[in-house]
Amino acid sequence: SATELFQQLRDKLSPRGDVVSEAGRQRTIELFGEALSPREVVQRICEDVREKGLDAVLDYTARLDGKQLTPGTIRVRPEEFEAATKAVSPEFLQTVRRIRDNVTEFQAAVLPVDAKVTRSLNGGTVELRQRHLPMKRVGICVPGGAAAYPSTVLMTAVPAKTAGVPEIAIVVPPTDFGGYNDDMLATCHEIGITEVYRVGGAQAVAAMAYGVDGIDRVDKIVGPGNLFVALAKQRVFGDVDIDSIAGPSEVIVLADETARPDFIAADLISQAEHSPGSGVLITWHQPLIEQVRAALQTQLAKLQRGDLAGRCLEDYGALILARNADEAAELTDRLAPEHLHISMDDAESMLSKIQNAGAIFMGHFTPVALGDYIAGPSHVLPTGGTARFANGLASTDFMKRSSVICYDQAALEGDAKSVRLIAEKEGLTAHSASVDIRLNSTEN
Ligand code: NAD
Repeated sequence: SATELFQQLRDKLSPRGDVVSEAGRQRTIELFGEALSPREVVQRICEDVREKGLDAVLDYTARLDGKQLTPGTIRVRPEEFEAATKAVSPEFLQTVRRIRDNVTEFQAAVLPVDAKVTRSLNGGTVELRQRHLPMKRVGICVPGGAAAYPSTVLMTAVPAKTAGVPEIAIVVPPTDFGGYNDDMLATCHEIGITEVYRVGGAQAVAAMAYGVDGIDRVDKIVGPGNLFVALAKQRVFGDVDIDSIAGPSEVIVLADETARPDFIAADLISQAEHSPGSGVLITWHQPLIEQVRAALQTQLAKLQRGDLAGRCLEDYGALILARNADEAAELTDRLAPEHLHISMDDAESMLSKIQNAGAIFMGHFTPVALGDYIAGPSHVLPTGGTARFANGLASTDFMKRSSVICYDQAALEGDAKSVRLIAEKEGLTAHSASVDIRLNSTEN
C-alpha cells in the first residue's frame, strides 16, 4: 500500500544514529581506537568538549577535519571578511543583498505581535499582556563538509537579525567550502555577521551549547548539518533550545492533467541531486506517470550530476497513481513532506485540503529553488514527516514570550475566593496566604 511504501522511503532515507556502516566503523577505529556508532561518537565529543573546553574543540578539529587551528585562527578576523568581500564578484554581492532584503521583508511581516487583554473586576482592573523579545545570543550551524551554502547563511542569520537578536555566532567547518570560502565569508560580512568560528560537526554544537574559551555559550542553536550535527543538537537540547533535527531533503509533487511532465521531472531531480534526497510524484491523471518517467530519463542524461540524482530517485523516489485528488491529498498529509509542490492550474483548491507540509509551492511557475534561494521564507524546513508537528525556521523562532499580569487591589479581592478554593484543593495554603496578606493590609 502507499502507506507502507512511504514508510519504506522514510526508513531508507533517514540515517539513524545507531546504524554503523562498514566505512563508519573503520573511521571510528582510526579515530577513537574502537568501533563506535555515530551516536556514541557524538556522546564522546560532547562530553570531551564539556570537560576540556577549547582544547577538545581544537583537538577534534585536527582529528576530524585535518586542520591545526589555534585560539587565534579559529575565529574569522575582520580583515579576512574584508578580503573575501573584495575577492567575490559585485554581482554576487548584489544578489546577496537582494536575497537579504527579500528575507528581511518576509521575516519582518511574520514577527509576532504583543497582545493585551483588559478586564474589569470588582470595580478594579486586571491587565494581561503577552510580550515578545528576541533571544540574546544564538548559534547557527552552516554546513561546509561537502559544498558551500551561502544560501544557508542567509536563510538562518537574516531571520535571526530580523527578530533583533543582538549576538549571532556562526560555526562552519574549516574547509574550502566553509570557513575558508570567500562566498561564505563575504555573505556573512554583507549581512553584518562578525562572529564566525571555523569549527564544524558535534564539536561545534557542543562548544556553542556549553561555552568554551573564546566561544560564549548561546541560548539556541539552529541550522542544518550532517548526521553528527543533528545528533549533537538532539543531545544538547535542554541545555539550549534547538530548531529541529533536519534530515535529507524531500519533495512531493501533486499534479493533475494541467501539469507539465518536463517541469515535474525537473522538480524531482532537483531534490534528488542533494543525494540523498527524495522526489515523489502523486497524481490521479494516469498518463502523467509515463510522461514524467520519460522526461526524467531525458533530463538525467543531460545533467552534470545526473547519475547521482538518478540513483537517488531509484532508491528514494516514487511515481504514485492515486484514485483521485482527495486520496492524493490524504497521502500527502500522511507523508508530511518538507517541500510540497502543487502543480495544478487550480492549486488553491488543493491547498485547502493539505495540513502537513513545511513549505508549499503553488502552480506551474514556482519551483522549489525559489524557496531555497530567494523568495523570503527560510529554506530550513522540517523533514522526515516532522511537518506533522514542526515548522520551518522563521524570525518567530528567535523570539521568547513572557506573560505580564497586573491586578489592582479591588481586582485582587474579586479573584481571591477562587484562588483560595483552588489553593485549598491543591493543599498549597501559602498561595492563599499570599493573597490574604494583601487584602488584610491597611497600609495603602
Ligand atoms: P557538515 O558541514 O554539516 O559537517 C561536517 C563536519 O562533520 C566535519 O567538520 C566533521 O567535524 C564532522 N564529521 C564528519 N565525519 C565525521 C565522523 N566520521 N565522525 C565525527 N564527525 C564527523 O557536513 P556536510 O557534509 O556539509 O553535510 C551537510 C548536510 O546538510 C547535507 O546533507 C546537506 O544536504 C544538508 N543541508 C541542508 C540544508 C537545509 O536547509 N535543510 C541546507 C544545506 C545543507
